[in-house]
Amino acid sequence: PQPNPQVGAAVKAADRAHVFHSWSAQELIDPLAVAGAEGSYFWDYDGNRYLDFTSGLVYTNIGYQHPKVVAAIQEQAAKMTTFAPAFAVESRSEAARLIAERTPGDLDKIFFTNGGADAVEHALRMARLHTGRPKVLSAYRSYHGGTQQAINVTGDPRRWANDSGSAGVVRFWAPFLYRSRFYAETEEQECARALEHLESTIRFEGPSTIAAIILETVPGTAGIMLPPEGYLAGVRELCDKYGIVFVLDEVMAGFGRTGKWFAADLYDVVPDLMTFAKGVNSGYVPLGGVAISGAIAETFAQRPYPGGLTYSGHPLACAAAVATINAMEEEGIVEQAARTGAEIIEPALRELTERHPSVGEVRGVGMFWALDLVRDKETREPLVPYNAAGADNTPMAAFGAAAKKSGLWPFINMNRTHVVPPLNITEAEAKEGLAALDAALSVADEYTV
Ligand code: PLP
Repeated sequence: PQPNPQVGAAVKAADRAHVFHSWSAQELIDPLAVAGAEGSYFWDYDGNRYLDFTSGLVYTNIGYQHPKVVAAIQEQAAKMTTFAPAFAVESRSEAARLIAERTPGDLDKIFFTNGGADAVEHALRMARLHTGRPKVLSAYRSYHGGTQQAINVTGDPRRWANDSGSAGVVRFWAPFLYRSRFYAETEEQECARALEHLESTIRFEGPSTIAAIILETVPGTAGIMLPPEGYLAGVRELCDKYGIVFVLDEVMAGFGRTGKWFAADLYDVVPDLMTFAKGVNSGYVPLGGVAISGAIAETFAQRPYPGGLTYSGHPLACAAAVATINAMEEEGIVEQAARTGAEIIEPALRELTERHPSVGEVRGVGMFWALDLVRDKETREPLVPYNAAGADNTPMAAFGAAAKKSGLWPFINMNRTHVVPPLNITEAEAKEGLAALDAALSVADEYTV
């Protein structure tokens, strides 16, 4: 595409004058004006092209402008752009069927929302109504969305300014061996001690007051910490023992990100409720939802569910989901994620970890990888402090600028960079991005002790 700096300047000027951006001090940001995107790349109006190692906000699992999904959206728009949620509509029925066929166990009913946060809101509402209990247990180092209940179960600094006293929310520590809260030295110890800590929390809070435990199957934005073998099965057992609803949040980890349709499949665990969004249709049209077990669906068989949305199961969004899931199936995109992750991404990241003093740990699976950047490999002191918003972020900013200069758009959260490209990135593209990452890590190395 031809560069067009004048248009870019106008886009930027209107943005700066009128767009109020998420999570930002409005005068301290400098958003890039984007002219277009295709596959794993996007480009600006000045002729710069970037390889997107972020998949947007970890949601364009099939890349940008997938032709089959764009065509399906166009066809649905011509046929039936919208229709109210109380009716049975072809694209909605078909999306629900395709999702329910893939979700684990008896999660066979789908409540559609507009995105991930409202899926979390509804899952927790269902759990409270199903059990008649008030409280929810959630983990530190988690992200569940920006609406009031979702941000209050979130365990990261974005909650602090939104914390409404967290009525009914109790937080616990989930396992994370690299920065263990349990003085553990092995995954087995970490797992056993994290489960013991969770059970104590349940017993001391009072099991009869706890409606739900919510966990990201694999925590995403908080650092891609794979739960140790046995942890999620252990949480499932505790939920069964104490009559607590087990909610898995698969908004980021679901729809192929881990090399399986759902991360729960990696651990053979079946929750009672599972939230999804993002990859369900690669965010081409906003869509999220909750997959509901037989027992919880039964609670609302004769009694109305007191919740809904004007756009629940929006026909255009659902048509995009149908086309996305079918394209992922036809093109083997989930298997491709597992293969490219294991054969290209993982070995390269392990090699970078050996070579760069700034890389403390690599962890992940499929197309879901994190590099934990440190000032000192010995002490594991993070390259920037936990709440970087209030601290000196120079090392991560320098790393990010170096990556962008060589055409790589990196995912950065606190002291981590995540490698989360589209699942169908080609081998050549992945290698190009990994080479740029290697060069940018040399800049991060300059800030180590
Ligand atoms: N849950 C998880 C695990 C997420 O990663 C996110 C978004 O990043 C959300 C919920 C919120 O989703 P949304 O931004 O679509 O509301």
